Amino acid sequence: MTESLLIVGAGHAAGQLVASLVQRKADFRITLVGDEGSLPYQRPPLSKKFLAGEIDSERLLVRPAGFFDTSGISVHTGTTIRSIDRARRVAVSGDSREFRYDRLVLALGSRARELKVPGSELEGIHTLRSIDDVTKIRPGLAPGCRLTIIGAGYIGLEVAAVAVGMGVDVTVIESASRVMSRAVSEEVSRAYAHIHRERGVSLMLGAQVRGFAGSGRVSAVELADGQTVVSDIVIVGIGAVPNTELAERSGLRTGDGIVVDKQCVTSDPSVLAIGDCTQHPNPLLNRSLRLESVHNALEQAKTAAAVLCGEAASYAQVPWFWSDQYDLKLQIAGIPGDHDETVLRGSVANRRFSVLSLKDRRLVAIEAVNSPMDFVQARPMIATASRLDPDRLGNESTPLKDCAS
Ligand code: FAD
Repeated sequence: MTESLLIVGAGHAAGQLVASLVQRKADFRITLVGDEGSLPYQRPPLSKKFLAGEIDSERLLVRPAGFFDTSGISVHTGTTIRSIDRARRVAVSGDSREFRYDRLVLALGSRARELKVPGSELEGIHTLRSIDDVTKIRPGLAPGCRLTIIGAGYIGLEVAAVAVGMGVDVTVIESASRVMSRAVSEEVSRAYAHIHRERGVSLMLGAQVRGFAGSGRVSAVELADGQTVVSDIVIVGIGAVPNTELAERSGLRTGDGIVVDKQCVTSDPSVLAIGDCTQHPNPLLNRSLRLESVHNALEQAKTAAAVLCGEAASYAQVPWFWSDQYDLKLQIAGIPGDHDETVLRGSVANRRFSVLSLKDRRLVAIEAVNSPMDFVQARPMIATASRLDPDRLGNESTPLKDCAS
């Protein structure tokens, strides 16, 4: 008899999983349950072109609406799964509907981290994770209005770039001493801070938020050093936390995410997990980690599809990520941080450069700014831990692939 496959969470990873299963003509009765009102969609444009109003929500869909119908997928949007009875293989929704399964995939994603300080309940304070969030934020971004962004990570800075383009007066408050400090090198931080300031963003680094002022609606952000930043609208972009509670309640192993193996299988062999919500091993990096990236969501979904179809697939990818701010495309592969040397290629002034991180002269990561060729050539070299000659690397006229030592 055809087995039933239940996918909980209808985001980017789930959309790719369904697409991969359909492509493989997998023999499952597939049910997709998600708590948002939309079919699976891509989140990256939410802080880029969709926020800027350059594309509409149709363009965000991972697959067109008709795809799920014609593929025979049973889709339940606006439906939150509250509990899983693994002994009976049943997931139960908030409105007490039961979804039976033979195999279950959790694709629960992550959610925006909240800033819990006095006044955080005031109107006009937002996080940005979903289409609904953008729908609430966009009307507040009128020319001349004062937007304060808390957090100079990717999302905060992408929003700053879009808002400046709309004529909004933007202040970014960051507790660390440099922008994107958790993800990029000092060279890249410095370059991005300079560009944002040049475009008119007021960047406050090393600043702690103490609370929000306002009556009913936010009117200012209060800092620990006593300063206040007058604000008409606030966006909090201080990272994300994985949605693990459902897995925890159902007794699955969790850590910094739902713990899975290289096959995306959880501590219960009939349950897989994919995407932002997983803590997974990466054999290329020799460590276990959790990633919030489209590449990881897509590749884990493809691995899970193969595993569900009985193939001997396993996940082994060099992580990569991108961020678009103004006319700058930042592409990062590998995890910068675990290195003993960095080499700069190209010109920061010309806004076309790469920072290469080496350990024992082996390439561990690249941060490429408007340098797609370096990025493309570096990815396989990171996977094979290629040894490079730092002197040749520094000369941008020598293609990266010719810099092996
Ligand atoms: P999600 O897409 O978050 O999907 C999970 C879904 O599960 C959500 O709809 C959630 O509501 C739902 N869900 C959770 N619990 C339940 C439940 N109990 N019942 C039912 N449904 C549930 N990545 C990049 O690589 N590059 C970028 O430039 C980039 N930009 C980004 C910009 C923004 C504004 C955001 C928010 C993210 C960005 N990302 C980017 C990250 C990327 O979008 C995520 O890594 C990706 O969406 C992860 O996919 P996912 O399916 O694991 O999770």
